Amino acid sequence: MKEQLTIGIVGSGYVGLVTAVCFAELGHRVICVDSDEKKIALLRQGKPPIHEEYLPQLLERHCNGAVEFTTDLKNATQRSQALFIAVGTPQSQAGNADMSYVDAVASEIARAITSYKLVVEKSTVPVYTNEWISRIMVRNGVPRDLFDVASNPEFLREGTAVVDFLHPDRIVIGVDSGRAADVLRAVYEPLTSGNYYKQAGAVPGPRMASGLPPLLETSTKAAEIIKHASNAFLAMKISFINVVSNICEAVGADIEQVSKGIGSDGRIGHKFLKAGIGYGGSCFPKDVAAFRYVAEQMGIEFGLLSEVEKVNTEQKQRFFQKVRSALWTFRGKRLGVLGLAFKGGTDDIRESPAIDLVRMFLQEGCIISAYDPAAMEKAKQVLPASESLSFAKDAYEAAADADALLVLTDWAEFAELDLDRLSRILRYPVVIDGRNLFDPALMRQYGFTYLGIGRAAGAHEKDPAFAYKLP
Ligand code: NAD
Repeated sequence: MKEQLTIGIVGSGYVGLVTAVCFAELGHRVICVDSDEKKIALLRQGKPPIHEEYLPQLLERHCNGAVEFTTDLKNATQRSQALFIAVGTPQSQAGNADMSYVDAVASEIARAITSYKLVVEKSTVPVYTNEWISRIMVRNGVPRDLFDVASNPEFLREGTAVVDFLHPDRIVIGVDSGRAADVLRAVYEPLTSGNYYKQAGAVPGPRMASGLPPLLETSTKAAEIIKHASNAFLAMKISFINVVSNICEAVGADIEQVSKGIGSDGRIGHKFLKAGIGYGGSCFPKDVAAFRYVAEQMGIEFGLLSEVEKVNTEQKQRFFQKVRSALWTFRGKRLGVLGLAFKGGTDDIRESPAIDLVRMFLQEGCIISAYDPAAMEKAKQVLPASESLSFAKDAYEAAADADALLVLTDWAEFAELDLDRLSRILRYPVVIDGRNLFDPALMRQYGFTYLGIGRAAGAHEKDPAFAYKLP
C-alpha cells in the first residue's frame, strides 16, 4: 500500500536532484538540500542547473510543491523520516574516495536528530561507510534506537538519468534492520508495485513493457560492494572492447561487427561493448580507483583493475597518435571538434576524454573550433582561454575550413549531420571519429577520408596519403 513519506535529500547534483524529483513523482514530499546557495536559488525558480532529459518537466511539475529546496540541513533533518546523502565522493590524492563531504553531512544530521531517522547512503561509497556513519551518530550522542543507516546505491546514467531512476533494472537496498527495510520498501513501493507506471503523465520507459523492477534486499556491506563492483565491471567491459578494437585495427577487421558478435551472447550483452576513446565522467575513473584501493586495504590484489585504468589512458593516447598520423604535423592545423561532454546526452565534462584531448591538441599548437550541444559553458570554465580555441554555434561552424573533423562525444545528433554539406565545408574531407558514429562505407561514398576506432583504415581511394600505410 502506498505510503507518503517526507524525504530529505542532501546534495542536489546529478544524483540528488534527479532522486528528489523522481521521489516526488512517486508521491513523496521531498526536501532537497544543498550547501551551494546559488544552486538552491536557481532551483527555487524551477531552473535545472544541469542538462538532463525530463528534468525540466519534472521540476516544473514539482518545484515548490512536492519538492522544496533549501540550504537548511538541520530543519530538513528534523522534518524528514529518511535522509538520503547524495553528496560527491571524489577521488583523493591516494586514489581512495574522499569521504569528507559525507562525513560533514552525517555529522550535521547527527547534531540535528531528535526523533527516529533512517540515514541512507545514496552516494557511491566504499564498504564500511555505513559503519562510519553509525559511529558518527553515536559519537554525537544519538541514541542507537533513534537511527538506522542503510545503503541504496544509485545506478542512473547521466543523459538518461530520470528514465533510469524510474525504470531501473533493479533497486538495491542494503539494510541491517527490519525498520530500515520497511522505510525503503515504502519509498520504492510505487515502482515495485507498478502503480507509478499506470499513473497519468508517468515518464515513459522500459519498465512499462518489461515488467516490474526487482527490489534486492542485501546487507549494507553487500550493497556498498555491489555499486563499486558494478562500475568496475562496466569500466572493464569498455577497456576490454577497446583492446579488441586495437586488434581489429591491426588486422583490418571491423570492431562494430566483432562487438555485435560478442554482445549477441546473452551471457555478455551488447551494452558497454562500444569501442571509443575511453571512459570518463565523474564515476568510472574514481570508482575503479576506489574499488582497487578497497581491495588493497583488505590485502587483496586486484591487478585487473590497474590494467583497466592503463588501457583507458592508452586509448586516449592512441587516438591522439591517430590524429597525428592523419595530419602529419600539428602546429597551425585547424581542427573541428564535435563533443566536449564525457558522453552524449549530458553537459557533464568531469574527467571527459574529449576535454583532455582538446588540451593535448592545443598544447601541440592546433587551432580548435569546438561544438557541444550542452557542455560548452562548462567546458569554457576549464579549458584555457586561448586565441587558438573558439566555440562554434553548431557542428557545421566547428567544421568550417578545418583540416580535419574529430568526433569526441557520442551525441546522437552528430550521426545525423548532413554529410554532403560537411564534405563541402571542411578544408580537407578528413573525419576522425573517436566514437564510431558513422558508417565507413557511406563516408567513403561522400568522399571522406574516414578513420574510426578499430576499423580498417577507411581511407578514400583518391587520397594518396592513405593508399599506403605511412608510419
Ligand atoms: P554532484 O557534484 O553533481 O553533486 C553533489 C552536490 O552535493 C553538489 O551540488 C554540492 O554542492 C552538494 N554538497 C556538497 N557538500 C554538501 C553539504 N555539506 N551539504 C549539502 N550539499 C552539499 O555529484 P553527483 O554526480 O550527483 O554524485 C553524487 C554521488 O553519487 C557520488 O558519490 C557519485 O559517485 C554518485 N553517483 C553519481 C552518478 C552520476 O552519474 N553522476 C551515478 C550514480 C552514483
